[in-house]
Amino acid sequence: MYHVIEPAFLIDDLPGVGPKTKERLNSIHIVDANDVVFKIPNSYMSHIPVDLNSVEVEETVTAEGIVKTDPTVTYMRRGMNRLVFFMEANDIYFKVTFFNQPFLRDKIKVNETVKIFGKFNKLKQEMSAQKLIFNTNEKLEIRYALNKAMHNKTFKNLVKETFKKAQFKHDIPDILIEKYQLMPIKDALYLLHFPESFEDVNRARRTVKFYELFMYQVKIMEKRRQERVRDVETIVRYDIDQLKAFIQTLPFELTKDQKTSVNAICRDLLSDYSMHRLLQGDVGSGKTIVAGICVYAAKTARVQSALMVPTEVLANQHFESLSETFSGELNLALLTGSTTKKEKHEILNRLKSGDIDLIIGTHALIEDDVVFKNLGFIITDEQHRFGVNQREKLNNKARHKNVLYMTATPIPRTLSITTFGDMDVSIIKTMPAGRKPIETTWRRSNELDEVMSFIRSEHNRGHSIYVVAPLIEESETLDLITVNEIYELFMNEFGSQEVVLVHGQMKNDEKAQAMETFESLDKRILVSTTVIEVGINVPNATVMAIFNAERFGLSTLHQLRGRVGRSDKQSYCILISDPKTEQAAERMNIMTETTDGFILSERDLEMRGPGDFFGIRQSGLPEFKAADLAEDYRMLEIARDEAIQLFER
Ligand code: ADP
Ligand code: MG
Repeated sequence: MYHVIEPAFLIDDLPGVGPKTKERLNSIHIVDANDVVFKIPNSYMSHIPVDLNSVEVEETVTAEGIVKTDPTVTYMRRGMNRLVFFMEANDIYFKVTFFNQPFLRDKIKVNETVKIFGKFNKLKQEMSAQKLIFNTNEKLEIRYALNKAMHNKTFKNLVKETFKKAQFKHDIPDILIEKYQLMPIKDALYLLHFPESFEDVNRARRTVKFYELFMYQVKIMEKRRQERVRDVETIVRYDIDQLKAFIQTLPFELTKDQKTSVNAICRDLLSDYSMHRLLQGDVGSGKTIVAGICVYAAKTARVQSALMVPTEVLANQHFESLSETFSGELNLALLTGSTTKKEKHEILNRLKSGDIDLIIGTHALIEDDVVFKNLGFIITDEQHRFGVNQREKLNNKARHKNVLYMTATPIPRTLSITTFGDMDVSIIKTMPAGRKPIETTWRRSNELDEVMSFIRSEHNRGHSIYVVAPLIEESETLDLITVNEIYELFMNEFGSQEVVLVHGQMKNDEKAQAMETFESLDKRILVSTTVIEVGINVPNATVMAIFNAERFGLSTLHQLRGRVGRSDKQSYCILISDPKTEQAAERMNIMTETTDGFILSERDLEMRGPGDFFGIRQSGLPEFKAADLAEDYRMLEIARDEAIQLFER
């Protein structure tokens, strides 16, 4: 995102950079001229003295005043030393301390004027000094985060040399510079290294941020143009009347967002551009139905569809729910690792002959022997769980490349513009009618009695209950309650006929068996670690109780909560938690305040930063030097709109 200099020469080509220096700079990822100019200082300090009376409590400032006492140097442990003297500035008499700069003793003389940069504490009337400022022309002192690879001053010279030698090839288009009062990127970068004032820094920084965001969006648009091939082959000419009639037969009215999504996907199918769309919506918002309707549309054009999901449990679940809604209308098949050889053989034949309209499966679908007659609509669920290669492999089986990605992970706006910026996005925000919002409460562990009696009352009403606890290492068990202890607790309270345990270390078939007793309502209390995160559907469940809830991130808590509230019964989420940090406490509060996955995801992003977000890291978030995705959202939007316009011209 930051290749402004072309040709980009290596730092070796700069005067004074030998093998040693090169190695040290490389170790902090400075390899060529672009890295040098984009090594933006991480702090700017003003050398303009302030009136110390204006300091509120403590501030890092420059003070100018008269030396009142001779400096004394005291030596401490480990070769440390401290230089102390008193000075007066703005009618304040205060103590100044320098650490490890004993040589300043000769430069500080009673009754002379000095300029000191440091942290001034007004209450204590003392300054922890960092720098004695000699008369310099520099108005701002800048610091680079160089990790001891080089002195600030030396690096600054290197920057100067780079600017002398470099040719800046790329820039923000002139009209945008004018429109947004920016400056050429070269000037902006120069000012960041050699500023005269804070205004310079701010103005320049704005330009560099814009440059980064804009260039990134341009790159995305380029990718989008490559992917969005214009090709009549991608057209799926479905029968609109048949589709409409089919939608009429559904047992419910589609929500507004579902309708909008179906329309958008159908438009993609009909157009001569390949579909590349992300369908977002919370668990239970009705994405699968939307996809199913579009599969039906494709079928009317005798085009086959495939739905790939990350786990077998999910595959089964999709297969069951889609079979229920579409039986008689679509020929469905299920292909997973558990499909028997004989079944598989038959399915493959039916795929090849075109008899199957929709195949649902795990990555078993990407195997070479899976051949379609006429695949034209590909859906992947929770796509971030698949590698790019796996997705590509399935996409390559298609004659008409129309790809729909579904996700129940709400992606904050910022990230969807960056990471998924090359896709069109449809969002289902509203839940189907009749669903009651889940009530969430936060309880301390000393309120366990109340929690238990609440669970008992829900249980007495015939409802099912999820009880979840994170896996805990032995060494941590002192003040945390473990899954086994919770299991004991519930066994004592409800008896073994009512409680079933599932944990990560159980074998798959054991797990499946245990889940089965819960799904069939044979046992109505499921105690588990987070293994239930994906793919279990028990509409009868009305309580999700989460122990040690502070150990989970917002996204996981939200996913867990999504297990209940799947019927018209009022459902509850109980967080049992004694958070030790403010952040964790805030997570609990946020959970009780909103059930909107998008709001949660924005908050999660704010709290954790984009790098950590939902493991999206693997999918390659851009690295920005000046821009900050969580902060510069507004600018990102502008940059995107401008990039789109640029491409339309
Ligand atoms: P998702 O895939 O987003 O988790 P589904 O499509 O599986 O959601 O829908 C969840 C449940 O809600 C299903 O039982 C489905 O039949 C039902 N459903 C979907 N859309 C509607 C609607 N508009 N009105 C009522 N029920 C709906
Ligand atoms: Mg689903």
